[in-house]
Amino acid sequence: MPEEALSNPRLISYLVEKLSNMVTSIVDTHAHLDMAPFDQDRNEVISRAKLAGVSTIITVGIDIGSSRQAVKLADKYQHIWATTGFHPHEASRVNQEQIDELAVIANHPKIVAIGEIGLDFYRNRSPKEQQFQALEWQLELADKLNLPVIIHSRQADREMLAVLRNWLSSRTQNNKKAVGVIHCFNSDLDIAKKYINMGFYIAFGAYISYPASQHLRTVIRGIPPGRLLLETDCPYLPPQQHRGKRNEPSYLSLTLGIVAEARRTSPDKVATETTQNAYHLFDLNSH
Ligand SMILES: [Zn+2]
Repeated sequence: MPEEALSNPRLISYLVEKLSNMVTSIVDTHAHLDMAPFDQDRNEVISRAKLAGVSTIITVGIDIGSSRQAVKLADKYQHIWATTGFHPHEASRVNQEQIDELAVIANHPKIVAIGEIGLDFYRNRSPKEQQFQALEWQLELADKLNLPVIIHSRQADREMLAVLRNWLSSRTQNNKKAVGVIHCFNSDLDIAKKYINMGFYIAFGAYISYPASQHLRTVIRGIPPGRLLLETDCPYLPPQQHRGKRNEPSYLSLTLGIVAEARRTSPDKVATETTQNAYHLFDLNSH
């Protein structure tokens, strides 16, 4: 191809489209594309992901600012969707007014979930009481807006199961919409089944490639095909071969490979199932 062709934007987007149709399509259900590590090359990262078969990306808010940035990205790219929420690390800064602000952001047509929200008793960057309060306010909001939730739970599964059980029993929106996802799942199969029985999906990222995560293979094998999701949590948690560097959505196919191997099935099958699951949970067809 002549050198000049590479600077022709129409030709480039034509090629990206062609190539992305040739590979199995997968959905990155949890990325943080607004974050600073992507400031220098965000557009390239997004194009590279498409070339690697990542047909859809959900970029996740962790506070008001990042939620607004997520919405901007979703406005700019048709295949990117956004979520809004306060990460448990931010819980000590959350008050009712800010929850009202989340509600305003959540009105945007490309917002598909409230998250990420949750409990983190590993890092404990916010006091426990405030983490519970922020989580409860945001669960209420998700119910009011009839949106699914993206749950971050670190060393807090016992408490999280209790909070979610309570929430589900008091929900006012009792329709058939899916309830949410447990992101970066890292517990055992018993806990996973408890979440699944409550209606949650279970998402795995590239940390399953780490030597210390080998035990998760049995968990991955035990998840029903209709409840499994793929995610990167980029720029965090890169695959083993990129450790110490930035993670990005184009690496998601490495996770797909490991999940397929753990489930003793083909990557194509996992790609089809997880893509369907993501479309269902976040209701992407009707947005
Ligand atoms: Zn995250």
